[in-house]
Amino acid sequence: MSRILQFLLFLMLPLVCLEAQTVSYTSKHKDLPCLDKQFTVFAHIIQDSFGGSNVKLESIHGAMNMADSLFAPICISFGTCQIDTFPYYQFDTLNLDDIGKLREMERRYNLDEVINMYIVSVVGLTGGHPNWGYAEQNGIWMIDSGSIVVTKELLLNKDTKKLAHFLGHYFGLLDTDYGGGELVNGSNCAIAGDLICDTPADPGVPPDPADLMSSRPCNLDVDLKDANDDFYLPDMGNIMSLYWGCHCGFSFDQYKLMAKNYLEGVNKKW
Ligand SMILES: [Zn+2]
Repeated sequence: MSRILQFLLFLMLPLVCLEAQTVSYTSKHKDLPCLDKQFTVFAHIIQDSFGGSNVKLESIHGAMNMADSLFAPICISFGTCQIDTFPYYQFDTLNLDDIGKLREMERRYNLDEVINMYIVSVVGLTGGHPNWGYAEQNGIWMIDSGSIVVTKELLLNKDTKKLAHFLGHYFGLLDTDYGGGELVNGSNCAIAGDLICDTPADPGVPPDPADLMSSRPCNLDVDLKDANDDFYLPDMGNIMSLYWGCHCGFSFDQYKLMAKNYLEGVNKKW
């Protein structure tokens, strides 16, 4: 995708994100570093026990195009995927304690110096997000073992922004509710939560399913307060929040951190 088209798509994102509480990520982007870097994503599709892939190539390309748009402010794109398909259905289900199976896949199939993305039916790995996927935190620093795992359901889902959440982890971002304890007034933002100060404190409580069906699906109706008795007002539109379905974009400081993590990665050779 051309840089100009990529940037135009980024500018259109707020139009599809009107339900999110803030779109502050659209401001100040001109002050961000421009990496001018295209990463190759190698998509490894694992077939199920019936030999079915259960994922369409256009779904993969659709999610990658959305990722291109979301990473455009720091001039990162993900190029054209390489795709292969494996019949080894034992890898199609990764349960809670199956990190060994993931390592085995990585040993067998990872290509160096690309982002290896495994597409499977079930991902319940510790540290990941059931239903959607798992990403190696700071995988961008790893030469031969980093990977992202996403479910076929994620790629079937109409909300193609979910892949960017896992790329966010891969580039070193934490979930906005990570660790808990971040105060609404921001006074401990550098040492609590996701350690990023322009993402508001996030209690990480999923919205009531009934609210998701309403006309205002991305409002946190629960009256949760922090240790100071202040009401939480998380940015539910942030890609790194767990308010799946409300996702809209990254914050300015998240972009800065992802760019820094790539530029300063100790093992970075690609
Ligand atoms: Zn996450």
